[in-house]
Amino acid sequence: MNFISSTIRAAKDFLFATACFHCGAGLQNGEQRICGRCWSSLTGVGENDYTFKVLQDRFSEGKMVDELVTLYYFEKGKLLQSLAHSLKYEEVTSFGFELGKKLSGKLSGKNIDVIIPVPLNKRKERERGYNQSDYIAKGISSELNIPVLSNIVHRTKYTVTQTHLNAEQRKENIAEAFTVKKAELIRGKNILLVDDIITTGSTIQEVAKVLKDAGASTVLAGSVGLAKLGEDS
Ligand SMILES: [Zn+2]
Repeated sequence: MNFISSTIRAAKDFLFATACFHCGAGLQNGEQRICGRCWSSLTGVGENDYTFKVLQDRFSEGKMVDELVTLYYFEKGKLLQSLAHSLKYEEVTSFGFELGKKLSGKLSGKNIDVIIPVPLNKRKERERGYNQSDYIAKGISSELNIPVLSNIVHRTKYTVTQTHLNAEQRKENIAEAFTVKKAELIRGKNILLVDDIITTGSTIQEVAKVLKDAGASTVLAGSVGLAKLGEDS
């Protein structure tokens, strides 16, 4: 981090101490960086929701992801979008940790041996310096006392950014983009595979596939955010 960005970060950290990162309201006792109102403005994902069911169907059809646990809808202009953005591009990694802790509430009691973050490709990770999903994984780990294995899955080819691709194009783009190293560490294990935001689910299914191919017993997909589908998509 250079001097200017570290100064900006320090200034932001100072602001965090007094005002909500998202809405600017004064923080109450016990609130850190984000006010309670902003947290409660997030829309939780329900198991009977259309989007959740579509994803669940996709996963059971693909046979690689055994279960899906996801926390909030990813909505434009809402708190989660700005948290995810800051986590991704401004090194506010503590948000990842915080979101991981929140997600852990929905994961306690699940059968999980190890936590694996969905990897970025090497080039992106080098540019960014970190993988945002690592911090979410660490936040979950801190609450549930389950180890994180960060260097097990690797991206083997460069995939283009997926923002403008449809589900079918994403599937092709991501196909065979991952490999597993040290398969002995995951053989027979129940794995929690962590991503920040699940959109079509194709990335997480590809990673789940290489984990299963390497001998993983079960794969539970966990994400903080879920992109809401329209009834027509
Ligand atoms: Zn707020």
